[in-house]
Amino acid sequence: MCGIFGYVGAKNNAALMTLEGLKLLEYRGYDSWGIAVKTKGKLVVDKHTGKIGEAKTVLPQSTIGIGHTRWATHGGVTVKNAHPHMDCTREIAVIHNGIIENFLPLKKDLEKKGHVFISETDTEVFAHLVEEYRKTEPFSKSVRKAFNKIKGLNGIVALDASADEIIAAKTGSPLIVGKGQDGYYIASDSSGILPHTKELLFLKDNEMVILGKTFTLLSLPNGDRLTPEFVKVDWKIQDSTKGAHKHFMIKEISEQPKVVRNIAENYHDQIENLARVISIAKGTFFIGSGTAFHACLVGTYLFSKIVKKHVNTAVASEFNYLEHFLNNRSLVIALSQSGETIDVVEPLVRAKQKRSKVFAITNVLGSTIYRLADYKMLLGAGPEKAVASTKAYIAKISLLLLLSYAMIGEYKKGKEMLLLAADEIERLLREEYIREFKKIATVLNKTEHIYTIGRGFSYPTCLEAALKIKEVSYVHTEGLAGGELKHGTLALISPGTPCIVFAPQDETYEAIISNATEIKARGGVIIGVSPFRSEIFDYWIEVKDIGDATLIPMAIPAQLLGYFLAVKKDLDPDKPRNLAKSVTVK
Ligand code: GLU
Repeated sequence: MCGIFGYVGAKNNAALMTLEGLKLLEYRGYDSWGIAVKTKGKLVVDKHTGKIGEAKTVLPQSTIGIGHTRWATHGGVTVKNAHPHMDCTREIAVIHNGIIENFLPLKKDLEKKGHVFISETDTEVFAHLVEEYRKTEPFSKSVRKAFNKIKGLNGIVALDASADEIIAAKTGSPLIVGKGQDGYYIASDSSGILPHTKELLFLKDNEMVILGKTFTLLSLPNGDRLTPEFVKVDWKIQDSTKGAHKHFMIKEISEQPKVVRNIAENYHDQIENLARVISIAKGTFFIGSGTAFHACLVGTYLFSKIVKKHVNTAVASEFNYLEHFLNNRSLVIALSQSGETIDVVEPLVRAKQKRSKVFAITNVLGSTIYRLADYKMLLGAGPEKAVASTKAYIAKISLLLLLSYAMIGEYKKGKEMLLLAADEIERLLREEYIREFKKIATVLNKTEHIYTIGRGFSYPTCLEAALKIKEVSYVHTEGLAGGELKHGTLALISPGTPCIVFAPQDETYEAIISNATEIKARGGVIIGVSPFRSEIFDYWIEVKDIGDATLIPMAIPAQLLGYFLAVKKDLDPDKPRNLAKSVTVK
């Protein structure tokens, strides 16, 4: 996770540029932030806990600086644990994305040699390691030796008070270098660099760069020189503001009709191409994490019912243990909003080693997953800033519905259904519905546990509903297949326990209403999401029937309930505690 930004060059406002760069990258981690600049041969560091928000910098003018927004893995959220970390002499500053897996033995070793540690982080060992090597070697060689010593997936950027250089190296974690007219930039995501330059170098694993007056690219571990391949991208800066909305989450929820219409109108060739790739593959596997996994599961149900074709779905972080049968005819379709999720990147790298084909469906042009895929499709949902994914999920399941119809030669029918889905989402966003959602959120505000149930297409919907509600409101919410209730979870229902029941007009209707009745018999409060007002519903959210596409608007109520519940609890739905938008650690 974590946002990394660095600048070295002719401009003397490195601190300000770093601060602004970190603001763009804050979605990657917001436990704490910090900046180091070099001035008069000394490093000056400024660190804070909490979100960077509208922070200003008090750091002096400088032509070289690095900064970090943290998502804590090792050590609590404290100023001491905030990056940059320094060595004993305070001449070396280090920022880091990832986990140094062997930090404990390294730390013990360094402590024996007299190094004193200030933080609880794994990162700090790197600064002391460099210090140790630098007693006899130049800075760049010391960083290389230190990087060769650490284990895990890491991106590290280091600064030395006695050198006008930024040195960076990586394995796993993304790092991108920008070549501007007045200097070099480095960041964990191109969005931090694009305001300055569009000439980019995507560092590969086991590469190290030395940025200063000149530019040097080396391979690790040996330090052999490499020829850099900068690319000129024509990507637009996709920034977005909240506009009249209080939060990004509600803004992004409200953009969903537009997202679905865009897919209905503009994806014909891309969808037909994906359909062709799937039809020639021997074995198709959908992988994703969190919300994207739920979209993958929607794909499995759609392919079973509409295409009558078996596809496999796995939680991306588990796919490493389920991939033993991949071969050069397999197709792995990866879904990821950010295109950076390490849990997705890793299995894709392994799939490519087995010469399987990789298809990326992501929202971010130029992201790691986008770049490593053989085939790619963008969601076109526009920047998604709220940590809880809404419009990217709707984009993914809309694409999968269209794909299913394309696979059976009925693209046009799929397109028409998507247009109906967009209209239905729009209807749910009308003022009178919003009032109803707010009212139900008040009911949910009185509880510690919420359950969501569904069957068939509505099973992934209820899993996604539970995730959406819990991640922004911190109320424990559990989604389960309606049939599973009686196998254990029914024991947790007591008088007043709310349960959201997804009951579309399909083959699941009768059975899910029976399951809801079982909950009601134990005193549960039933919130029905259905085209029909069943008499067992205590509250009814009407989602009109639009055939198979009903599953798209069915996802909206839980987004809104989660949002309004978070607002009621005075929480920030855009930045839930402990989470980050782009998940780049294992
Ligand atoms: N492992 C480091 C820490 O806990 C880096 C975490 C990050 O990637 O933000 O500070």
